[in-house]
Amino acid sequence: MIIVLKDNPEIDKINALRDWLRSMDLEIHYSQGSSTTLMGLLGDTSGLDIDIIRSLPFVKKAIRIQEPYKLSHIGFKKEKTVVDVGGVKIGDGITKIIAGPCSVESNEQLIAIAESIKTSGGDVVRGGAYKPRTSPYTFQGTREEGMMILQKMKEQCKMPVVTEIMDIAHLEQFEHIDMIQVGARNMQNYELLRALGRQNKPVLLKRGFASTLEELLLSAEYILKEGNPNVILCERGIRTAANQGTITLDLSAVPRLKQMTHLPVIVDPSHGTGDSKIVTSMTLAAVACGADGVMVEVHNNPSMALCDGPQAIDLEEFEQLVKKIKQLRDIISV
Ligand code: PEP
Ligand code: MN
Repeated sequence: MIIVLKDNPEIDKINALRDWLRSMDLEIHYSQGSSTTLMGLLGDTSGLDIDIIRSLPFVKKAIRIQEPYKLSHIGFKKEKTVVDVGGVKIGDGITKIIAGPCSVESNEQLIAIAESIKTSGGDVVRGGAYKPRTSPYTFQGTREEGMMILQKMKEQCKMPVVTEIMDIAHLEQFEHIDMIQVGARNMQNYELLRALGRQNKPVLLKRGFASTLEELLLSAEYILKEGNPNVILCERGIRTAANQGTITLDLSAVPRLKQMTHLPVIVDPSHGTGDSKIVTSMTLAAVACGADGVMVEVHNNPSMALCDGPQAIDLEEFEQLVKKIKQLRDIISV
């Protein structure tokens, strides 16, 4: 249930309401907008008489939320969430560009790619040090060394950085990272999500290959419920009957999620297609359908990439892509 308070309510009356609700084992989350205060009630509200709440003089309205996701629900906040990733605001209405290699391979590789991304107009650099690979026999990432390379790149190129976590035991290594990614394979690793909810860095939560949008939001809920409000959702393609078993980028997820949640939504057209030849088209389509950001794999030599080379665009293609994104941003208002 959501209780929307009238402007400038008397604090002692609100506190009395809060204490009464807590006595019924309900958890209360406050959301303070520029003019309105919302009280979001978590727990079993079935025994609560909504008409009593509505009759209180300082209550503007009370609404029952039927959906199982609550804190991420669009009605739970007056304003859309904007997440600050090292100074880059994701969710502010202007599509942001996250780009970088699938994996951090070496210092030279990452710096060359990051410098070029910065010059081309990218906003945030991505790069995996810990890689969730489907086969244990393929390249597993540069791990601790990769984390150090990311830190060096950040200092040298002055770009915010996002990288994936696979084990909460590695959290200390993320001190200099601006946003922590939870990959598709870990979307339902609830203990990991809970632990990330207890720290305050932004979390980029990717949709599982076979997860519904409701399941994605319930996963986000694990992070929000622990107190971290900075969650960004990412559509990265799902398994469907189309395309002979490869991944289908579900762009309809973007406008659908925007009707369901106040959280920012970005799109990863690289994992979502697996094919560098269609990454540009699908990135532009993501911008056109209202994504708050795009995350694209870029490599200085895709044919030699240690991971996901076939879906990586090169530095020149990225430069062209940014130009097109900017043109598109100018003609559509999302
Ligand atoms: C990645 O972004 O590097 C990645 C592994 O993505 P996903 O979890 O979507 O497969
Ligand atoms: Mn990849």
